Amino acid sequence: MWLMETDADSGGTDLLDEFAYVARALAEHGWCVANAGNLSQLMPDGTIIVTGAGTTMAEVAVDPGRALVQIDAEGEKLAGYYEPSSEVLAHLLTYQAVRESRPHITALVHTHSPALLVWASLDPRPELPKDKLPEGGIAVNPYFPPGTRELADACAEAAAEGASLIVWEKHGVIALARTLSAGLEMIEAAEDLAQAAVYADEA
Ligand SMILES: [Zn+2]
Repeated sequence: MWLMETDADSGGTDLLDEFAYVARALAEHGWCVANAGNLSQLMPDGTIIVTGAGTTMAEVAVDPGRALVQIDAEGEKLAGYYEPSSEVLAHLLTYQAVRESRPHITALVHTHSPALLVWASLDPRPELPKDKLPEGGIAVNPYFPPGTRELADACAEAAAEGASLIVWEKHGVIALARTLSAGLEMIEAAEDLAQAAVYADEA
């Protein structure tokens, strides 16, 4: 159990449970078809635990110890069966972007939740109620191909400007949170708001 060695302080089993819980919820929501979506947790020692490339949320839910990879702050793999997620650069740059301004951000949840994507595509885009959004609000980035430096840079820039939810147009959304489950809840709440806005737009 490789995670236990580096995570003795905060409880490796708890962390695996947290990954499994959030991955199961994302899979059940149908927001991570095939191997879409990825999760990461910034550890107190500066290393990052991230879902492996090509792993499904169902796999993470069933066997997180095998589906997760540990990397250093530069993205070099330290341990794990898989290579890190193809979106790992977006995770790394986003953590770097908020390290000084929001050090409590230690978890990132990326998923392909549909209502936020439809909402982001509307022109004009309806306002979402600011008082119901997380602190820093929601940003929308233009489309960049998955896994690219451009996508990661745009995400980090929006994070540096304070956003807590960042929609990647025609792709998905990433939540910046204290914990993975808090990130999940942020996306669930924003999906509800986006769905209401989309229905109202169609009415
Ligand atoms: Zn994605």
